[in-house]
Amino acid sequence: MTDSTASTRPDDHADDATTNAAELTDEQWRQRLSPAEYRVLRQAGTEAPFTGEYTDTKTVGIYRCRACNTELFRSEHKFESHCGWPSFFSPLAGDKIIELEDNSLGMRRVEVLCANCKSHLGHVFEGEGYDTPTDLRYCINSISLTLEPAE
Ligand SMILES: [Zn+2]
Repeated sequence: MTDSTASTRPDDHADDATTNAAELTDEQWRQRLSPAEYRVLRQAGTEAPFTGEYTDTKTVGIYRCRACNTELFRSEHKFESHCGWPSFFSPLAGDKIIELEDNSLGMRRVEVLCANCKSHLGHVFEGEGYDTPTDLRYCINSISLTLEPAE
């Protein structure tokens, strides 16, 4: 398993994180996040497909930014894309995320960032023909998210 860093990490950093996450220094991020989390969230890395803890998760709940605890996605917007990463057809309403054009790797993609802490979440693709209400696929790294199961 490759998600051992996520499941063993203490969960006590989240409470104070939301408000001041935007002001953290790089060194503070390194202390706050595991190396694997840091590589994706702060260095725009991508976890290997079909390895993330939420790829096939169907648990009802809210997905929060793992870096700052902001609510980003909801389980009812998650769908089975078979692409190897958690996929959502819509983020939560409001300005929870930022979408930025990303021309790295020689292709045009749209990067998805947490609006609160500017951490990297994944990419959004459109027009792929999935049978979803929006025809959008927010392809998000599991390691960028924390699932809060509904009661
Ligand atoms: Zn965040």
